[in-house]
Amino acid sequence: MNQERDGQRFETVAIHAGQEPDPVTGAVVPPIHQSSTFKQDGVGGLRGGWEYGRSGNPTRAALEENLAALEGGRRGLAFASGLAAEDCLLRTLLRPGDHLVIPDDAYGGTFRLVAQVVDRWGVAWSVADTTDPAAVRAAVRPETKAVWVETPSNPLLGITDIAAVAEVARSAGARLVVDNTFASPYLQQPLALGADVVVHSTTKYLGGHSDVVGGALVVADEALAGELTFHQNAMGAVAGPFDSWLVLRGIKTLAVRMDRHSANAARVAEALAAHPRVVQVCYPGLPSHPGHETAAKQMRDFGGMVSFRVEGGERAAVAVCDRARLFTLGESLGGVESLIEHPGRMTHASVAGSALEVPADLVRLSVGIESVDDLLADLAQALG
Ligand SMILES: *Cc1c(COP(=O)(O)O)cnc(C)c1O
Repeated sequence: MNQERDGQRFETVAIHAGQEPDPVTGAVVPPIHQSSTFKQDGVGGLRGGWEYGRSGNPTRAALEENLAALEGGRRGLAFASGLAAEDCLLRTLLRPGDHLVIPDDAYGGTFRLVAQVVDRWGVAWSVADTTDPAAVRAAVRPETKAVWVETPSNPLLGITDIAAVAEVARSAGARLVVDNTFASPYLQQPLALGADVVVHSTTKYLGGHSDVVGGALVVADEALAGELTFHQNAMGAVAGPFDSWLVLRGIKTLAVRMDRHSANAARVAEALAAHPRVVQVCYPGLPSHPGHETAAKQMRDFGGMVSFRVEGGERAAVAVCDRARLFTLGESLGGVESLIEHPGRMTHASVAGSALEVPADLVRLSVGIESVDDLLADLAQALG
């Protein structure tokens, strides 16, 4: 993986890219430019190019430059949510008559956007098991303009070989989009593996503290960057200055957080795998996981998300969620605090009855950075 930029490694880039001390005051932290408009020195005389807060804001621009550097892309774009970023991207890539391939375990909100919104634009779509490049090859058509993958996926932690699917997409003349939310750019850099666009819900690991909702796109291609920038302004679902600042602040500790998330999750996955009431553990760091080798090849470590199936079906899985104390019962993921949820009744309730339905006995954990001993003790008592 290429973790270097101008000779600097990821940890350094995360703290410094886009974040030079303020030229006017010397403030070490980029100011929150909470201003909707900018004074012009005579008509059209913009200071530093700033004109109106939807078109551009210096705090948002700092985040966008930082995100581009972290993913090794040419341009970063920050949005009001992950789904706002996805909406902008899909409107930019697709026209009526085009076709899109999405994964059979896509994030529920992505599936809803495609099945209930994009579908109405006259765009065709189909679902494929992207963990099998041959299945993606079988799903693409002459009119396929984009292939969407999510790896690790949600909530089953499936692993897609990004380089292999990039090859399939390229030979079909389609763009490869990778939702990198679960890995974060610290663990995985899809553009270097051949992806055209990286999508993030910055709400999750990039923000990292469960205190902001945001989204981002990062692209390598200058022409596509220009089209997306046009649509970002034309549609207007931009990240606000304070939200941009919160994400930037979160990113400074991304590397140390991801190391601890990964280390804690590995211990949790091992303990669950040894528990008599656990039927199956989904964690790409376990050698028994079908995507383990691919994950080891394309990721620095295996991340903080773990799912498992509980003996006794839905009632038993729900009971584990209800009994957990330190693991907070809630949707979302990627914050410093550990969360537990029942995908079938919570995050994935909207895909019930579709190709994306998840097992009823599944429990999903977002393993935080608390003491792993306390986390293990809580899971042991919740499993009874
Ligand atoms: C949360 C999430 C999204 C959507 O992001 P929002 O910020 O909630 O709009 C997209 N993809 C994945 C993998 C997510 O976890």
